Amino acid sequence: MRLRHIPGSEEEILKSPHVVQDAKEKRGRWSEVFGNDHPIHIEVGMGKGRFIMELAQRNPQINYVGIERYSSVLLRGLQKRSELVLSNIYFLCEDARELAEIFAPGEVEKIYLNFSDPWPKDRHAKRRLTSEAFMAVYDQILSPDGTVEFKTDNRGLFDYSLESIPAAGWKIVEHTFDLHNSPMAEGNVMTEYEMKFSSEGKPICKLVARR
Ligand code: SAM
Repeated sequence: MRLRHIPGSEEEILKSPHVVQDAKEKRGRWSEVFGNDHPIHIEVGMGKGRFIMELAQRNPQINYVGIERYSSVLLRGLQKRSELVLSNIYFLCEDARELAEIFAPGEVEKIYLNFSDPWPKDRHAKRRLTSEAFMAVYDQILSPDGTVEFKTDNRGLFDYSLESIPAAGWKIVEHTFDLHNSPMAEGNVMTEYEMKFSSEGKPICKLVARR
């Protein structure tokens, strides 16, 4: 998501009670942040956060952390967040490369990747959030039976991921090239991008991976 930089967005984020500022100091102590031992699910590249805020409303027994690297994008999410009364969700303005410094081994039970930037040029493949390099980062923080769930409209990125994820030593346990017309659609929560692309008639791909 490319948004024009919004002046003052960093300051707004610094002031927000919904954003954890010193995330690396919480490594291994996220249960203290939430005040309970519920499982932690994260979304990497949450954009404006529709998906993760909807999940937090539906599942009070799960703790959610939404991660977005651009302050101007996260600010949009915070505007929506201020309308909700929730105690099971926090946001981080961080790059996914830092995840292993933010979460201890096994501290996260599920990672959602939704409509991640495709980085179509071969020389940028390492930046894709389903690259072998990123899967190695997720490997460091996920619990032994934890899962990565990935949705995209981009068939090139999806086909790449069907190869890169097993190459990183993971199993793809479920996948579909047309989520909304598949059994995997049950309980699906749409993201902002998913609503846009599916309204244009584009099929949505989804996979679930575990080690
Ligand atoms: N997940 C949302 C959705 O489905 O509507 C937003 C999708 S948008 C195409 C991808 C988002 O991921 C952008 O807001 C981008 O800034 C964020 N992003 C990309 N790479 C990231 C990274 N390495 N760390 C954190 N956020 C990242």
